[in-house]
Amino acid sequence: MEIVPVSLVLNYQQTGKYALNVVAGSIMTRRILRGTPVYFSKNLEQLLTHINEAQRQSEKVVVGWSFYSPQFTTIIDDLTVIKQQTNSANVIHLAGGVHATAEPLQTLNAGFDLVAVGEGEQIICDLLAAIATGQDIKTTRGIAYLDAEALVKNGKGETVDLNDYPPCASRYRKFGPIEITRGCVYACKFCQTPFVNKARFRHRGIENIAHYVRIMAANGLRDYRFLTPTSLSYGSQDESVNIDAIEHMLATVRSIIGKQRRMFYGTFPSEIRPEHVTENNLAVLKKYVDNDNIIIGGQSGSQAILDSSRRGHDVESIINAVKISIKAGFRPNVDFLYGLPGETRQDAQLTIKLANQLADLGARIHNHTFMPLPGTPFRNEQAGKIDNHTKQQIVELTTRGKAYGKWKGQLKIAKELELLKQKQQ
Ligand code: SF4
Repeated sequence: MEIVPVSLVLNYQQTGKYALNVVAGSIMTRRILRGTPVYFSKNLEQLLTHINEAQRQSEKVVVGWSFYSPQFTTIIDDLTVIKQQTNSANVIHLAGGVHATAEPLQTLNAGFDLVAVGEGEQIICDLLAAIATGQDIKTTRGIAYLDAEALVKNGKGETVDLNDYPPCASRYRKFGPIEITRGCVYACKFCQTPFVNKARFRHRGIENIAHYVRIMAANGLRDYRFLTPTSLSYGSQDESVNIDAIEHMLATVRSIIGKQRRMFYGTFPSEIRPEHVTENNLAVLKKYVDNDNIIIGGQSGSQAILDSSRRGHDVESIINAVKISIKAGFRPNVDFLYGLPGETRQDAQLTIKLANQLADLGARIHNHTFMPLPGTPFRNEQAGKIDNHTKQQIVELTTRGKAYGKWKGQLKIAKELELLKQKQQ
C-alpha cells in the first residue's frame, strides 16, 4: 500500500501542552504512524516556520490545537494570523479539547477545518492513519466538520482506558504530570470535567504509572507530578477514599525515584476535595511527598451556593480541612469561586468572611471568577460578577499576602464567553 507522507505540527504554547504530550505519545502506539514527523511549536513564529517546513517534507500537514474555553478568543486570533500567513492548500487545522468538544460548530465557524470531539487519543491516531492510507478522513470516528455550513459529527472519540496510551511523549522528551485519573463522579455544575470525560473515574494502573515513572527517571526528570480531578479519589470508583490504593501508588513511585527526586501530590496541577482531608489521609501523603502545601477546593462560603452548584460538601468541611492540613504540616491553598449563579451579595460576603477566617488560620486563598463554561449545566448562565465591596475585600486580603488569583482577568473572560454564547443563539 502506498503511504501518503503526513506531518503533525502541534501548537505547543502554554495552553493544552499536557494534552498535546498525550497526543504525540498516542501516535507511537500505532506502527503505521511511528515515522510521522512531529513538530512542537512554542510560539506563533515557530508555528509558522514548522508549518512551512512540514509542507516541504510531507504531502499533508495536520496542525493540532488544544485549548480551554477561556483561551478561545486568543486562539482564534492566532489561527487567523496563521491562516493568513501560510499556504493552507495541504494543511488541516484540527481543534481538540474541552471547548472544541462542547462547541464544535462555534469552533468550526471560527476557522478550524476539523474538530476532535471527545478524548483525543483514538481520534488523532485514526485521523493520521486515514490520511496516510488515503482513506476519507471525514469518516473518522469523533471527527466533526462543516458541510455547507451544517455541522456533521461522527460521534465522539473513544472513551479510552488510560493504560492503553502513554501520559507523555518520551521519544521527544515531552513530559508533564502523569494523568492518573480521568473523569469525575462529582458533578459540580460549573466544571467541564465530568461532562467531557464522563461522570466516572478511570484510573491508570500502578504498574503502568511505574513504567512511565521509570522512563521519566531514565530521562533525568527531577520532579514528578500527577494529573487527577480529585487527588484523594485515586483507586476509588465512588465518593469514598481508597487510601490503601493511594499509598501503594505513592510508595511505588517513591521506590523508583528514590530520595533525590521530588514527588508532588495533592498540589498543582490537581486539588483535594475538602471532605477527603482527614488526619489519616494527610499522614499518608506526608510519608511520601515533597510538597509543603496542598490545594483544597472550597469554592464558596455559602451553603446555599455550594448546594445549588452541586458541590457535595458543606462549609464546615472546608474549615476542618484547613485546620487538619495545618496540623499535618501542609499549608492549604483554598480555591474560591465568586459570582456563581444565584450568588447574592450576602452569599459573597459569607465567602469573604470564610476566606478571612481561613487566612487567619494560615491558609492562602486562591480567588477565581465564575465563567459559564460550554458543556456544563451552568453554560447558559450569566458571566460571574463581583460587587465592588467584595472586590475591595479580595484586594485587601491580597495586599496582606493572604490571597492570589486571576479573578480580575476572569471577569473579562467570563463576559466574552457569555457574549459568544449569545451570538450563537
Ligand atoms: S470541580 Fe472537581 S470534583 Fe467537581 S466535578 Fe470538577 S473535577 Fe470533579
